[in-house]
Amino acid sequence: MEAPLQQLHSKVWEDQGIALWVKREDLLHPTISGNKWRKLRYNLQEAKRLQHDTLLTFGGAYSNHIAAVAAAGQEFGFRTIGIIRGEEHLPLNPTLSFATSAGMQLHYISREAYRQKSDAVYLEQLAGQFGNPYIIPEGGTNALAVKGCTEIVSDISIDYDYICCASGTGGTLAGIIAGLDGKGQVLGFPVLKGGEFLKEEIEQLITRYNGQHYDNWQLITDYHFGGYAKVKPELLDFMRSFQQEHHLPLEPVYTGKMFYGLVDLIQKGYFPEGSSIVAVHTGGLQGNAGFKERLGLEV
Ligand SMILES: *Cc1c(COP(=O)(O)O)cnc(C)c1O
Repeated sequence: MEAPLQQLHSKVWEDQGIALWVKREDLLHPTISGNKWRKLRYNLQEAKRLQHDTLLTFGGAYSNHIAAVAAAGQEFGFRTIGIIRGEEHLPLNPTLSFATSAGMQLHYISREAYRQKSDAVYLEQLAGQFGNPYIIPEGGTNALAVKGCTEIVSDISIDYDYICCASGTGGTLAGIIAGLDGKGQVLGFPVLKGGEFLKEEIEQLITRYNGQHYDNWQLITDYHFGGYAKVKPELLDFMRSFQQEHHLPLEPVYTGKMFYGLVDLIQKGYFPEGSSIVAVHTGGLQGNAGFKERLGLEV
């Protein structure tokens, strides 16, 4: 699988001799978007190998992961069950309407019940209820997802000093760090408030994947804009002008925040002159339709 690299040009970084590239993971697949395709790939193989005919996973009502699993089930011949946090709202929002049209069966649970999503007893109960499905955790993050995400870096053909990625559960970042195996510098931009908690999660994911410990990465926790899926006018203004200037589609939950943070760091002189930077576009553009509907926002 290859995602193209796109170079972005602007005086903002080129005056500092900095080269900026975008790894267009959003172009990997039309409906199994970006990093979710990387995270699912080996899980789908494992589900086939273990002869499961059903995939079951978890997510919020606007989840990119829910949309991706629904699309993957349709393409690779699995039934899909989506355990959705919260109550059903009709008509379905664009994400859930896409998921059901791809054949996913939705099952709503309360926010309290949803907290049990990684509890072994609860998972066993779900397995009984839904006919022994292959269970994929929320956001798709597990060891096979980390393995898939190592391929984001093995697929980059140029030399670079820094690689940047937005981070939710940390699975994608763990894969990038493990894939680099100590080379270069990795910057993760958590999109949740209090993203420092990810440090330990990511270390555990890497240890479980290859038993290693790396020091060439850090979390940049200043660009969450108030928390998960929260936006501010300055973020939306930045996205509008950035998209227009670079012909690069963004969404406000992940990639908008990462690029905002990255450009801000460049402007503050964070990167040494002459650096080359790869920013990973993790996809997620399906979420824009829901954002527009929910907030009346044009992004
Ligand atoms: C899910 C998602 C992420 C976060 O990935 P994690 O592996 O959970 O950190 C980043 N960007 C986009 C567009 C996503 O959909």
